[in-house]
Amino acid sequence: MFVGSADTQSPRRETMSKKREPCPFCGAVDSDLERVDTGGPFGREWRVYCFDCGATGPVIKSQSGALGMWNERAAAEGDDD
Ligand SMILES: [Zn+2]
Repeated sequence: MFVGSADTQSPRRETMSKKREPCPFCGAVDSDLERVDTGGPFGREWRVYCFDCGATGPVIKSQSGALGMWNERAAAEGDDD
């Protein structure tokens, strides 16, 4: 149960729902994980897709991996301030 300002940085919360960085290309936060059927050994893989500009992150075999790559990209692109 959440009481008061529960939206602080709790380690447990971090691992349960990973934060998705804004799109590195257009800055939109309207993006989501998308399943990609590669037909390869993993059968299906994942990438982050931006609904706003259509950019996609790298295709990775795990959701958390795809998310991690997207976030790294976003961090690298927006690191000039
Ligand atoms: Zn975008």
